[in-house]
Order: sequence, then C-alpha cells, then structure tokens
Amino acid sequence: MKIHEYQAKNLLKNYGITIQDGEVVEREEDIESAIDSVSKRLNTSQFVIKAQIHAGGRGKGGGVKFSPNKESAIKNAKEILGMQLKTHQTTEEGQLVRKILITEAIDIAKEYYVAITLDRSTGKNVFMVSLEGGVEIEEVAAKTPEKIIKVHVDPAIGLRSFQALKLASALELSGDALKQGVKLFKSLYKCYIESDASIAEINPLVLTEQNELNALDAKFNFDGNALYRQKDILDMRDTNEEDPTEVEADKYHLNYIKLDGNVGCMVNGAGLAMATMDIIKLKGGDPANFLDVGGGANVETVKNGFKIILSDSNVKAVLINIFGGIVRCDRVANGIIQAVKELDLNIPVVVRLAGTNADLAKSLLESEQLDIIAAQSLEEAAQKVVDAATKTSVMH
Ligand code: GDP
Ligand code: MN
Repeated sequence: MKIHEYQAKNLLKNYGITIQDGEVVEREEDIESAIDSVSKRLNTSQFVIKAQIHAGGRGKGGGVKFSPNKESAIKNAKEILGMQLKTHQTTEEGQLVRKILITEAIDIAKEYYVAITLDRSTGKNVFMVSLEGGVEIEEVAAKTPEKIIKVHVDPAIGLRSFQALKLASALELSGDALKQGVKLFKSLYKCYIESDASIAEINPLVLTEQNELNALDAKFNFDGNALYRQKDILDMRDTNEEDPTEVEADKYHLNYIKLDGNVGCMVNGAGLAMATMDIIKLKGGDPANFLDVGGGANVETVKNGFKIILSDSNVKAVLINIFGGIVRCDRVANGIIQAVKELDLNIPVVVRLAGTNADLAKSLLESEQLDIIAAQSLEEAAQKVVDAATKTSVMH
C-alpha cells in the first residue's frame, strides 16, 4: 500500500525528521487561507505547490511549482488542483489531482537520494544513499550504479552507528550536518521497521543553505500482509489512487492484479496462477490479469472474481483453471453458473476443472447448457483460450 507525500512527511515528522512543511488543500476556496497560514506558521513568503498523487515524477510532469510570492502561489495552486497529471509512472490519461500540498520554499544547497528497502537476495534491509539526488534514480542505477552507496542491515540487529556514519560520510556531510545525518538515518530506519514499510524513500533529502538536512519529498510502500497491525497506516489509504478493479477485488479478499493482455484468468493458488499465465504466454497469448481465488473459494468468491475479470473491457476470452484440492470443483461450477446468469456474457469461456468433484462440476455445467468450452489438460485449455481471444478480437 502506498501513501501520499504529505502523509509520508507526517510520518517522518513523528520520528523527529525535519521536513519541508506545509498544508494540504482539497477545495479551491481553501487555497488562499492555507497560503496565509503556511506563510505565518513557517515564516515564509515563497511557496511550492505540489500535486498529491501516488505516482512519482510529478516535478517533470508539471505537478510541482515554485511560487515566489502569494499571487503566483494562488495561481499555481488553482492550476494544479483538479488537473490531470501525467508522469512516467501514471497511465496515458494521467491521474486526477484531488489534493495539493502548499509548502514553504527551501533554499537548496545539495540534493541527495536516500532509501531503505528489503533485499531479498541477502535477506537483509538495504540502506541506499547517493549524491545524485532529485533526478531519476532509476537512471543512476542503470548507468552509474557505483554512485549508489549501499549498506546492508541485519534485521535482527538493526542499523549500527558505524553504518549510519558510513552513509552520512558517503553524502560528504560534515560538522553539524554529519551529526544530523547519522540521527536522521537511525530515525528513518526505525520508522521503516516500526511501520512495516517495504520501501521508505526520501528523494530528495536536501542540505539547505543554512547547513540543515530537510526531507523535501517522501515515499512509502507498506507490506499489505502487515496492515492488520498497522491501523494508523491503513487509515491513510486513498483508494482514489488505486486501480478500481483491484480495490473491488480487495473487498472480496481476492488476490487480483490487473495486467495489459486480453485473456482473463481465474485460478486457485498463486503457483497455479503463475503457471497458467506462463502457458498462455507460451501459446502466444497475453494474460489480462492475475487472479488467485484462494483455497477457501466459495460460490460468492468465484462469482465476484468472474465479475471483476469481465469488468475489464480488454478481456476477449476467459480461462478458468481450477485444481480442486481444498476448494471443490462443484462449488466453482456453481459460482460460474450464477455469475453467467447474472451477467450478460458475450465472450468465450474456457473451463478446466480437475480434482475433487470435477465430474460433478462437469455435469452441473452441462445441465445448465452454458456456452462453455471444456478442456482436459492445461495445455489444451491455454491453446483454446488463446485461439478464442484472437477470434473475438478480430470480430470486435
Ligand atoms: P517528484 O518530482 O514527484 O519527485 O517531486 P519532488 O517533491 O521531489 O519535487 C521535484 C523537485 O522540485 C525536487 O527534486 C526539487 O529539485 C524541486 N523542489 C521541490 N521543492 C523545492 C523547494 O522548496 N525549493 C527548491 N529550490 N526546489 C524545490
Ligand atoms: Mn521526488
């Protein structure tokens, strides 16, 4: 789960990290008073207006604007609030800006990159810093990876003082800024651990003209499996920023991820779902989604999963591939039957059911005389669904 910049900054603030502060505005009529309030509280006459969307690269897309006085701040705020912001991380249509952050402007001497994430290959957290902050770190990582300094942190031990010092030294900090850096890295690590984050990123962390460290931008990703014990984090969720079908799927506890292809997939078990997607690819097709209905799938789950797949207009054919272990095939069949009855189904559906009660499921589907293409093996099912999707695409 992701959060907005202003929420990420609030989190950092709670850990004693200095941030580029400001106020959030959602309605145009609140812009002027918010600017006045920022001006007074933070003693500033220059502002930065920042679009609050989950995607990065807002600056380049025109969603971050320096405003040297109140008038320009009002103008920029009105422009950005409600705009359709396109960045390299949004879709083609861009993302609607529903909130803006009006901040104090800061005199920047240097911009740094700072991030913590999990390094699965070493089973440790990796703390990364770079003097190449502000710009796209992906480019630095690709072209000059030596410019990213990494420290691996054993989760059982935590960030050691000498490691924090190594990171601060890598940023060539000295004097009081060096001390601030060490403290900041320790705080950030603590925050990352305590909030069950999977990524904590400050880009840029800046050194101000007054020789102080300040978090100008912040991004967090949280481990979805830990949200049950992170109520404060979960409260920050903004479903406006998430894919609507994924939000819908989440309500029914379905593991659904939208993809770009045209073959809808409904499978039980993450491993079988991955294998199903692989074999669709192998047959020249492209999966429209990943969907694991889980081991405890019942009629309702199957029905809702099926509806979610069909709500994607890219889907030209559906493959239902169920291995009945804990989940019984007849339940799945009943779910399919209910969903098909409720929906106006006009695309081919290939069904492969194997395992517990597969025969019962087959006779259920046959007795309803549904327009379903049956398949025995996984390979046959994949071939049939890819053929069907190709045919439907040509027809439409
Ligand atoms: P992003 O483009 O989505 O990563 O948004 P950021 O919050 O990182 O802002 C983009 C860039 O705007 C930063 O890298 C800074 O160079 C610049 N910027 C943002 N706030 C200020 C500020 O207060 N003063 C100055 N001089 N530049 C700023
Ligand atoms: Mn940034």
